[in-house]
Amino acid sequence: MNKPLLSVIVPSFNEEKNVEPFYFALKAVLDETNYRWEVIYIDDGSSDDTLNLLQRLSTWHPQVNYVSFTRNFGKEAAILAGFQHAKGDCAIVIDADLQHPVELIHDLLEGFEDGYDQVIACRNRKGDHLLKTALSKMYYKLINKVVDVRLEDGAGDFRLLSRRAVEALLVMSEGNRFSKGLFSWIGFDQKVVYYENVSRQNGESKWSISKLINYGIDGIVSFNMKPLRLCFYVGGFILVAALIYILIMFTQIIRTGIDVPGYFTIVSAVLFLGGIQLVSLGIIGEYIGRIYNETKKRPHYLVKESNATKGKRYERVQ
Ligand code: UDP
Ligand code: MG
Repeated sequence: MNKPLLSVIVPSFNEEKNVEPFYFALKAVLDETNYRWEVIYIDDGSSDDTLNLLQRLSTWHPQVNYVSFTRNFGKEAAILAGFQHAKGDCAIVIDADLQHPVELIHDLLEGFEDGYDQVIACRNRKGDHLLKTALSKMYYKLINKVVDVRLEDGAGDFRLLSRRAVEALLVMSEGNRFSKGLFSWIGFDQKVVYYENVSRQNGESKWSISKLINYGIDGIVSFNMKPLRLCFYVGGFILVAALIYILIMFTQIIRTGIDVPGYFTIVSAVLFLGGIQLVSLGIIGEYIGRIYNETKKRPHYLVKESNATKGKRYERVQ
């Protein structure tokens, strides 16, 4: 009987110190499994030696495929490219920096064999900066109140997807990809396996504060229209309050004449309304910006060079 094929997708951005240690750790685990396997590295526009190392690795190891982007398009684009090139019956997304323990692949595959379409690796936050932990806890509490899909703290991109789930993700062609939301949106039977947080061994995290904030906004805006509706409600409330205020003042003026010191009221009203208007415009702008991006239909990434071919089934989907 033919063994099933497993595709391992590895987004890599400036990971020259990790390419080899990671590959050999991964290979050791994959060789123990009962699967045929391929690894698809996505070089996300690295400026260091990552691409050279991948080229060298692929000449010696035929299971190694790589796709190299013309510049840094971001991890979301890298994951998409991985899915598009994956030919496996299931696919695993894993970081190149050894923060995702490769041994967990056994557990992920076990879940797949039990019939789950998504097996999610969820980490605890041990060793993370306290402030970062608190902020992300708050973020997930907030986001789950607001968005229409369920997002878990600690459940990142490290997961296994069945062929069906990969196909479902590929059908969604949106430009602004928020993987966490997309993974949750497609549904299917899911299982969670837990692992201990590991600190990064080599190189630095690519997440700056501003990247994290942008990611947070993407998460909120990509998956619901509630902020727009909130604008409408707040605006409506203020309008009604202002009308009542005007009515009261008007009757008072008719009864007792004009009261001169109205400066404070006027200034505070102008400032308050100005603030609300700016916030509302900002939220609307977020959505319009997204519509603008989607209408351009630009590709998610451009390939500089690659030794991988696109997955057969994906060509059919297109
Ligand atoms: N990565 C990427 N493109 C980027 C940023 C990161 O492909 O623009 C890759 C990176 O090489 C790593 C993974 O995504 O394999 C996770 O990145 P990182 O370790 O910086 O994130 P963290 O673990 O701090 O969340
Ligand atoms: Mg990392």
